[in-house]
Amino acid sequence: MLPNNRTTSTTTSSNKLDNLLNRLEKVKQIKPGKYKACCPAHQDRSPSLYVTYTDDGKILMKCFGGCDIESIVSSIGLKLCDLMPDNPLNPYEKRKRPPKFSKSEMFDRVVFEAVILSVAVRELLKGETLADDDMERILTAESTINEIAREVR
Ligand SMILES: [Zn+2]
Repeated sequence: MLPNNRTTSTTTSSNKLDNLLNRLEKVKQIKPGKYKACCPAHQDRSPSLYVTYTDDGKILMKCFGGCDIESIVSSIGLKLCDLMPDNPLNPYEKRKRPPKFSKSEMFDRVVFEAVILSVAVRELLKGETLADDDMERILTAESTINEIAREVR
């Protein structure tokens, strides 16, 4: 006997959709992504609930008996968020690039950091040991200059 090769990936498949359809009675697929079923929120003998699975992963439901969406989802133990895709694009999560420095700001910054470096180099050449704080400041100056160098490139 051949193994039952069930293909689970169709374009309209979604765990949330399956979860919803499993809770409905007399589910019938009308066409891909469109189903009808008995409405769980009212005494529905012939299916009057239409379920649409949209391209962007949302589940839309319309009961022609006039039930509102909240009572439909709550009567099958779901919430409205169960109709929404798992990863909606959150515009606030899109990271903006940090503002670029203008040329003159970059120049001022480079000069400032260069002065710090030159003071430190002078101290080192004199055989002075630098304090940890100063060493840290030199590293900051160096990375700032490198960053600016990358922007200008
Ligand atoms: Zn209904």
